[in-house]
Amino acid sequence: MATIFSKIAAGEIPCHKVAENEEFFAFLDINPVAVGHTLVIPKKEVDYLFDIDDAMLGRMMAFAKRVARAQEAVITCKRVGLAVMGLEVPHAHIHLIPIQKESDMYFGGAKLKLSAEELDKIATQIRNEFK
Ligand code: 5GP
Repeated sequence: MATIFSKIAAGEIPCHKVAENEEFFAFLDINPVAVGHTLVIPKKEVDYLFDIDDAMLGRMMAFAKRVARAQEAVITCKRVGLAVMGLEVPHAHIHLIPIQKESDMYFGGAKLKLSAEELDKIATQIRNEFK
């Protein structure tokens, strides 16, 4: 059975898409810890990020870097932080989080409450900067 993230990449479940190529897909996290919090996934179903072979992992990181550049262009931040957990969804993903300070990457607290319109606007801005 397809994972929820495969269904998102296939367009079967709606998302706020940020970027895509033949191998990878990026979209806003539905429960962001910071504005612009984005998930990067491989379209190929792999549960654990570190089971991905070296070459593909390199391409995934290069794709994530392009997403981060686009985030930096539209969201005020000092850095784009990167996190990998995968405890909730068994489809490998990288969290890319625009941050001003360390605590902006705290996953254990209350998540941001952003409307669908706000998420849509952020995704469109990042998408337009994706090169
Ligand atoms: P993790 O597996 O890394 O522990 O957490 C999964 C992440 O995916 C969470 O930050 C959660 O908010 C996000 N997430 C879970 N389901 C969905 C979904 O259906 N759509 C989107 N956009 N994000 C999701």
